[in-house]
Amino acid sequence: MFGSHLATRLARPSSLRYSWCLSHTSSHTRKSSSENRLVKPSPDHESSGGVLDVTRREPYWHIIPTWKDVSEADFLDYGWQESKDKLAAFLYNVLPEEIPYDGDAPEPLRQIQTRDMFVQDVLGGISLAPMSIRITPHIMSVIDWTKPLSDPIRRQFIPLRSSFIKDHPKLQLDSLNETGDSPTPGLVHRYHDKALFLAVSVCPVYCRFCTRSYSVGGATEEVSTKKSFSPTRRRWERMFEYIEQTPQLSDIVVSGGDGYYIAPEHLTSITERLLSIPHIRRIRIASKGLAVCPSRIITPGDGWTQALINASAAARRMGKSVALHTHFNHPREVTWITRLAAQKLYEEGVMVRNQTVMLRGVNDNVDTMKELMRLLADNNLMPYYVYQGDMVSGVEDLRTPLSTILEVERHIRGSIAGFATPNFVVDLPGGGGKRLATSYNTYDRSTGVSTYILPGKNAGEDRVYEYHDPL
Ligand code: SF4
Repeated sequence: MFGSHLATRLARPSSLRYSWCLSHTSSHTRKSSSENRLVKPSPDHESSGGVLDVTRREPYWHIIPTWKDVSEADFLDYGWQESKDKLAAFLYNVLPEEIPYDGDAPEPLRQIQTRDMFVQDVLGGISLAPMSIRITPHIMSVIDWTKPLSDPIRRQFIPLRSSFIKDHPKLQLDSLNETGDSPTPGLVHRYHDKALFLAVSVCPVYCRFCTRSYSVGGATEEVSTKKSFSPTRRRWERMFEYIEQTPQLSDIVVSGGDGYYIAPEHLTSITERLLSIPHIRRIRIASKGLAVCPSRIITPGDGWTQALINASAAARRMGKSVALHTHFNHPREVTWITRLAAQKLYEEGVMVRNQTVMLRGVNDNVDTMKELMRLLADNNLMPYYVYQGDMVSGVEDLRTPLSTILEVERHIRGSIAGFATPNFVVDLPGGGGKRLATSYNTYDRSTGVSTYILPGKNAGEDRVYEYHDPL
């Protein structure tokens, strides 16, 4: 791969590591209980809800004991190189010895009463997870460590064995059948005029619910082999040739993995090559980077950010577009650093759209989703999609029934300007593509089975796709 960030293979729980997109110099060794105490937010840090107000220009990462002396300049510096550290040691450092009672946590999790029990539960969770662990300092800093059992950010990235729910029998690792729709490895052509260019298989974080669990990140105990899309010129060349020879294509999503991990010079060469193809009109760079490591965007001279800005400007001159598609799921992911980064991209003319995934215990309620959509719109990160969770193996505790997204949309549509209201969609399992969640043909709430019809060109060619709620 290009770049220095290697996916972390978690062979044994004892060797668990997470990696940063920013590095730090502290050693995370296990400390005495008095040293391990959680640093409480100062009154200045607290909002009325008792949670860090990460939108104020304050060092919110000081909540992590080993980072309490890290300066703003260091935290903002993307060159604060990547390092790796042991997740278990980090948790011992950041968690209180006794886990506070958390009435918001599901019942099985409330049995976790000590730090030791929490760490053991995490190790057990990782052994069942389809995704390996990678988390950025930004994300670690916005987790509310006084409520680790129910915290919505923790739920997205760190699994707990006690929260696991048996998979629905219809779940699959490649639930969208991307490999089945790939004319050449890493190029998914499902829609008439759009294709997905999977450039890399690595990301700055690994989301537990990733729809591409079959390919992204390192192998795990549960998924011992992944279909890796390594960034080789030969593979990319075959993808470019297919695109060049398919004039119906006008829209290319460059993804992975995550576009943040495409080396700047390769981001430039990919966008230049695609823009030079006459029938390609639109390119989207898919990256969660802005949501999980926003400091990179405002790091002076950062090559990746400049490559994105240059590509966006070049496309505009050609009457085409290069946009960034990012992925925020919870309002607390938007800090003052995020705002600065979003403003920079806005001033530079880079269109940014956001794709959220609806997740149980994260954003599956009207208030959180509405707050997130407003926050994104206020920062010119235009809400584009809210996805129903895909039917991916191993993360049933995060999936909601279809009825939840229908209810959330019912309350949000009409309460926010139309152009800032996302489409609430189901990406149909088996490769049916995205459909408005409300456009189901049938939905039996007692069995949890919904059907969607994909119209065929001729009578009798309609195809029916099923979505199944969690059991
Ligand atoms: S950043 Fe995107 S591709 Fe990477 S793990 Fe998360 S959802 Fe999957």
